[in-house]
Amino acid sequence: MSELFGPSDGDTQPAPLSEPLKGRCLCGAVTITLNAARPLVDICHCEMCVRWSGTFLGGLSGKCFTITGQDAVSTYRSSDWAERCFCSICGSNLWYRFVPGDHYSFLAGLFDVPAGLGILQQIFVDEKPDWYDLVQQSPMKTGAEVIAEAEAAGFKFD
Ligand SMILES: [Zn+2]
Ligand SMILES: [Zn+2]
Repeated sequence: MSELFGPSDGDTQPAPLSEPLKGRCLCGAVTITLNAARPLVDICHCEMCVRWSGTFLGGLSGKCFTITGQDAVSTYRSSDWAERCFCSICGSNLWYRFVPGDHYSFLAGLFDVPAGLGILQQIFVDEKPDWYDLVQQSPMKTGAEVIAEAEAAGFKFD
């Protein structure tokens, strides 16, 4: 069990971005507009995210969003509590959804982002491949710590 993403928001948060973020897949069939996005990328190094993304998963989330091109969106149910969606035309990974919390984490690379985004946290650092490291200082959590946090927030995984 090693697939979880961002049910907790942490304590101190910078203000959300005032301009919507515009995102799209490689072929443009799917577009995403993300409003009031947090200017922080949530990073997961778990084995499943690494397999799915090729490296870590860097996600952005916001208060509300619109998605166009749903016909092109394929959904892979990767566990009891998560879905991973991708464009069925170009193969771009689009978002991870934590189903019990209905939390969407959109792949940061889809968006035209302003300079200066930070890292919210890095999770499942105990599953990170040793061939890369991110140099920015950011909160680091092991899988066990993340699961304990989510369970304390009321989510169940078995
Ligand atoms: Zn596409
Ligand atoms: Zn992950």
